[in-house]
Amino acid sequence: MELLKERIRKDGKIKGTDVLKVDSFLNHQMDVALFAEIGKEFKRRFADCQVDKILTIEASGIGIACVVAQYFQCPVIFAKKNQTKNIAGEVYTSQVESFTHGRIYNIIVAKEFLRPGDKVLLIDDFLANGAALEGLAKLVRDAGAELVGAGIVIEKAFQPGGDRLRAEGLRIESLARVKSMSEETGVEFVD
Ligand code: 5GP
Repeated sequence: MELLKERIRKDGKIKGTDVLKVDSFLNHQMDVALFAEIGKEFKRRFADCQVDKILTIEASGIGIACVVAQYFQCPVIFAKKNQTKNIAGEVYTSQVESFTHGRIYNIIVAKEFLRPGDKVLLIDDFLANGAALEGLAKLVRDAGAELVGAGIVIEKAFQPGGDRLRAEGLRIESLARVKSMSEETGVEFVD
């Protein structure tokens, strides 16, 4: 998606070797007009799929998923990072290792919102090592729901998550695939 790649080139900030900060339009301040274009593009790419629900993970996936959902005309569920006491039996849970914070946390979704047979599209801002998508995919499996695929805004293709999950059969559509990046040379995209 050329518009998105241009924006990343213009406003993305590279931290160290593997963190891309896009706080001015995606992760802190949010460019909702850009989100609308992102929503249209995901709808175009998943036009062949029935999508009953979009599942994302708090916090930065929520804004994007809500705009995307307007194009699919379906509800959004966000997996909560669990701090509350465990309400076992009423929630699906899985564990995710945070790429940005380096710690492991539980994510939960209430069983009443993710139903057997639901056709679920995952949406997230970044794909790096794939832990967030794997955690979300487990919630879908545990619910007996059907995983349609994953829509990712920025995939860091030099990290292993995308290749591994595609090899496992997950359909992933990434709108910008970063081949490499460095503070000196900037961001280079796969295609
Ligand atoms: P993964 O679980 O695939 O390793 O990482 C994906 C999650 O980590 C995303 O939900 C995203 O919030 C965060 N993340 C991973 N890499 C980056 C990055 O380069 N920049 C930002 N802002 N977030 C990232």
